[in-house]
Amino acid sequence: MSETERGCRRFLTAFTLLLVGAASAQAHGEWLFRETAIMGTRCAVELWTDDRAHGLALIDDVFAEMRRIDALMSTYKPESELSRLNARAGRRPVQVSAELFDLIETAVDYSRVTHGAFDITYASVGYLYDFRSHKRPGSAAIATGLANVDYRKLKFSAGPRTLAFMNPGMRIDLGGIAKGYAVDRGIAILQRAGVKDAMVNAGGDTRILGDRRGQPWMVGVRDPNDRDKVALRIPLENASISTSGDYERFFDEGGVRYHHIIDPKTGDSARALRSATVIATTSLRADALSTSVFVLGPERGIELINELGDVDAVVVTPEGKLLYSNGLAPP
Ligand code: AMP
Ligand code: MG
Repeated sequence: MSETERGCRRFLTAFTLLLVGAASAQAHGEWLFRETAIMGTRCAVELWTDDRAHGLALIDDVFAEMRRIDALMSTYKPESELSRLNARAGRRPVQVSAELFDLIETAVDYSRVTHGAFDITYASVGYLYDFRSHKRPGSAAIATGLANVDYRKLKFSAGPRTLAFMNPGMRIDLGGIAKGYAVDRGIAILQRAGVKDAMVNAGGDTRILGDRRGQPWMVGVRDPNDRDKVALRIPLENASISTSGDYERFFDEGGVRYHHIIDPKTGDSARALRSATVIATTSLRADALSTSVFVLGPERGIELINELGDVDAVVVTPEGKLLYSNGLAPP
């Protein structure tokens, strides 16, 4: 196996069998691919179908579901349910939809698992950054915002299904988990419709259903220094892969990169890695953990992934080194 091609054994058990089966799998049908912009990023669906019209309608359904989730959870849309929650929950408990309530609870589960490296209340300081206009907070504003960063200060009441912020200045942002959630919802639509082989992608989050008609999908992990180069290719089937990188939303100032993944302990961008890629069964898990590993850095990040046991990771360090979790390490 070449240096840039690692087998992910956990997610690729039937590779050889599938290659043998490929010759007989010549059923008629075609791959359909469509992409569009949703959630401020490029989203794509590719699926195998023998009914073109039905396949295209399913792709539209997946994009419609992603738009619905964006309308619910975007912090850029003042009328979204999440924006209305942020505007009011610092003063009194706010009733939320079951869907949003569950996702916020899931996000807090990841805060516990990562000891606060993943924390949706990071937004209490995160909202002070604007990467497009190169805006960042000074140390006094960071200190004020940091006082409101703590997932333990989210008060859930399951009965009335309300959420309250214990500090008035708190905010939450689901940007580290919502795309993965949307990808899972898209895959579920395709599965229910009987699709066997498909790929759904939203920015850095991808989930693969089945395989590529007898072969695994080859998913590339980008070289953080060159968007046209691939640092690594991973063969995958029935798996999700998410990459968090410091090249998605950023600006450079005085030789320092300010980007969208914030360390909840410092209120500053996390800088111990250039990218973190996680492979998991669901896209939500891969998404939440890729952001988490990015914040945790190489040692603690890989350690967490090895402890969890059901996931794998590869990270790119600032020096350009690739480090792998146990399941991805060469035999
Ligand atoms: P991703 O590209 O999946 O790593 O997600 C990055 C996004 O997650 C950012 O744009 C923020 O919306 C959000 N985010 C940034 N830092 C954190 C953090 N420490 N915990 C949870 N979400 C975060
Ligand atoms: Mg993520």
